[in-house]
Amino acid sequence: MRALRALAADELEGDPAGDRMVPGGAVVPRWGAVTTLLVLVDGIGFGRSGAPNPFDGAPVSVLAPLAGCEGPRGLEVARVDATLGHPGLPQSATGHACLYTGKDCVAVAGGHRTGFPVGALARFVVEQSIFAEARAGGLRAGFLNAFPAERARHIERVVRGEEPRPKHFYASASTLAAVARGGALLTLDDAFAGRAATYDITGELARAHGVVAPRRTAAAAARAVMAGAREHDLALFELFLTDKAGHAQDTTWARHEIGRTEAFLAALLAECDVERDLVVVTSDHGNLEDLSTRSHTRADVPVLAWGRGAGALVASLGPRPDLAVVGAAVLANARAKAAPARAPAP
Ligand SMILES: [Zn+2]
Repeated sequence: MRALRALAADELEGDPAGDRMVPGGAVVPRWGAVTTLLVLVDGIGFGRSGAPNPFDGAPVSVLAPLAGCEGPRGLEVARVDATLGHPGLPQSATGHACLYTGKDCVAVAGGHRTGFPVGALARFVVEQSIFAEARAGGLRAGFLNAFPAERARHIERVVRGEEPRPKHFYASASTLAAVARGGALLTLDDAFAGRAATYDITGELARAHGVVAPRRTAAAAARAVMAGAREHDLALFELFLTDKAGHAQDTTWARHEIGRTEAFLAALLAECDVERDLVVVTSDHGNLEDLSTRSHTRADVPVLAWGRGAGALVASLGPRPDLAVVGAAVLANARAKAAPARAPAP
């Protein structure tokens, strides 16, 4: 894994020299607090043009780079190696783990691992979580997917060791990373309160499975996620139905999920205050961009960055970044941007 190039001082937004002092000596940075929101869209990579790639010909704007087209002006794009140089097809457990720890978790696990992290990989995600790291540095870090409260509290107790780990305990890398060292999951109450959203954005699938979730438009869900992000310095939101559609090799379903994701991301970018917020969209491995195979692919995955410091973040990734570099860069960005704004009160 290549080391993350440190952000040079002149790449950071704002100028500490422009800070002003207020009575009592507190420093009030002129740029204010900056929110870094990481959005994981599972299983989307850069594919070839033509019929197997459902992004090609779909009415997309934010996701246009996946169709070989330019995204909206201001969208910073990078190609990311999801294999980390390891043989085989990249998978979700290790891909997410790389993003949420900033480390080569494929090496930790001894290869690409599917589904949810278990064993040593799960422990590593808890120990090395970028969200826990952010919290240890005084930042507010959170995972904005809404869970049923009972499940959320159960996961938290097991990860904290307050309850024995059931034989078949499955928790995603995101939940492990989010609750590591004192973090808490958000619940459906937070979704109803407008600071979180369900994995399906609109609530339709969650409700179909008996979950009492708010029914929302993509725009309303984006508003809730952005509002939730602004309660944190570093926040995460995850979507995975794109990967399901890719495995199904179903063009109609694929286009539906592309439409759902595009509507959400477009609304999210519209909600983003480019003076204060940074949105970083990425993925864990390719899949949906090639419906000729039901498997994942070794395709590069995107970083699509928008808002405050998007160009600096993409530049900091270097010429050939991998998933771990992206995770480390997101943490570094949150630290660099949020820390000055959180000067102690007088
Ligand atoms: Zn995945």
